[in-house]
Amino acid sequence: MSDPRRAVPALGRLLTRPEVVEAIAEHGRESVVTALRTALEESRRAVAAGGSVEEEDVLVTRVLAAVDDRSAAQLTSVVNATGVLLHTNLGRAPLSVEAVAALTAAAGTVDLEIDLDTGERGGRDAPVRDPLTRLTGAEAAFAVNNGAGALVLALTALAGSGGVVVSRGELVEIGGSFRIPDIVRSAGTELVEVGTTNRTHARDYRAAVEAGASAVLRVHPSNFRMDGFVHRPTTAELVEVARSAGVPFIDDLGSGLLRPHPAAPDEPVAAERLAAGVSVVVFSGDKLLGGPQAGIIAGEAALVERCRRAPLARALRLDKLRLAALAATLAAYERDAADGLPLWRMAAEDAGSLRERARAVAEACGDAGIEVVELQAVLGGGSSPGATLPSAGVALPGPADRLARQLRTGTPAVVPRIVDDRVVLDLRTVPPAADEQLIAAIRAATTRPPDAP
Ligand SMILES: *Cc1c(COP(=O)(O)O)cnc(C)c1O
Repeated sequence: MSDPRRAVPALGRLLTRPEVVEAIAEHGRESVVTALRTALEESRRAVAAGGSVEEEDVLVTRVLAAVDDRSAAQLTSVVNATGVLLHTNLGRAPLSVEAVAALTAAAGTVDLEIDLDTGERGGRDAPVRDPLTRLTGAEAAFAVNNGAGALVLALTALAGSGGVVVSRGELVEIGGSFRIPDIVRSAGTELVEVGTTNRTHARDYRAAVEAGASAVLRVHPSNFRMDGFVHRPTTAELVEVARSAGVPFIDDLGSGLLRPHPAAPDEPVAAERLAAGVSVVVFSGDKLLGGPQAGIIAGEAALVERCRRAPLARALRLDKLRLAALAATLAAYERDAADGLPLWRMAAEDAGSLRERARAVAEACGDAGIEVVELQAVLGGGSSPGATLPSAGVALPGPADRLARQLRTGTPAVVPRIVDDRVVLDLRTVPPAADEQLIAAIRAATTRPPDAP
C-alpha cells in the first residue's frame, strides 16, 4: 500500500495555483508560504494518524482566508468569556458606543492644539482637563499615557532629591515588569523604605521625612490582600505627616474609582482621597474608570503644573484618539450616566438573568453535554482582589486544552476560562448581543474534527 501521506499535495504545486500567486502578490511570499507549509505539515500528521485527506481546494481556501484575516486585523476582536471584567490581556475596559464614536471622529484632523476661536495654540488635554477636575474635586488634572506613566511622571516631577518614602508593605509588583522599587529608581529618585512587610506606622514615615525624604508615596495594594497582624497608617495620618514636613503626598490609587460602587468595595475613590488632603492622586483610565488606556494625575494645581511641565510629560502624552475616548467616557460620568458604560453594565447584570442566558445558550447548542454552571466573576485589572460577583455560564464537555484552543482560534475568537479541567464560558463578561456569536462558536468548537487545526 502506498504511503497515505503522499495524497497530501506538494507545496510546489500549490504555489502555481492562480489564487496563491495572487495572495503572494498581496501579502508577500513569506507569510503565504509559511501558512501553506504549516497547513501541509498538519495535514500529513493528521493523515498519518488515520484521518482523511483534506481536498486541495478546501485546504488552499482555508489557508488563504486565514492569511487574509491576519493581515486585515493585526488585532483580532474577541469575545471575553473569562469572567474577568477588566482583563489586561484582552485590553481591559471595553469602550462605550459614545467613546468609540468620539475616537473615530478624532481619527481625522481635529482641533487638538489650536483654539478655533483665536487661532492661537491651545493645550492638548483641554477636553479632559475640566471634566477631570470636576469629577475628582482636584484643583488641576493632567492625563498621560497610562497609570504607570502617571506614577513615573509624578515621582520625577515631585519627589525631589531627598527620595520618596514607601512602606515595605507596598514594594509590590503590579504585573509584568512593573515593580515599585524599579519604578522609583527609574524616575531618578531614591527609595526610602520604611516599616515592615506587614506593619508600617505613621511614625515610620515621620522619621523618614524628618531625616530629609522629600515626598511620601502610598501604593494601593491592587492585586493582593494582607490579613492578620497588619497595620498601615490612615490617610489622615499620612496627610498630617506630609503637611507638617511640607512634602507632597502622592497616592497611587491603581484603579481609582470616580464614584463609589458596591461591586468594588475596597477601591479608593479619587475625590474622597483628595478631599482628605492627599496632594496628588494617580490612577488608570482603563480600569474602573471604564475608558481607554490612560493615566491621570489630579490634585494641587502647583504640583500638577510641575508634572505637566516636566520634560518627560512629552514622552508620555496621550494621542488624540484616546483623548477623545477619555473625554466621551468622562462625559458619561458628568451626565450621571456611567451605569451605561460597558464595564458598569457588566458589573450590574443580575445573576438570575445571567443564569437565564446561560440556559438559553446551552439549549441552543443542543444536547451536546453542555452544562449550565454557577460561577464567580471578578473585576480584574488589579481591582478589589478577593471580591467576586455571582455569575453563571456554560461548561463544555471534552478535553479542555483542545476546546479552549478551538474557541480562541475560531471566528469570532472566544477566550474561555478553564475551571477544574473543564472549559467554562462566563456570561457576565459577554455582552448579551454577542450570545448568538457565542452559540455559533461553541457549536463550531464542539463539532470540529479533533485533528482540525
Ligand atoms: C494598575 C496599576 C498601576 C499601573 O497602571 P497602568 O494603567 O496599568 O499603567 C499602577 N499602580 C497601581 C496600584 C495599579 O493597580
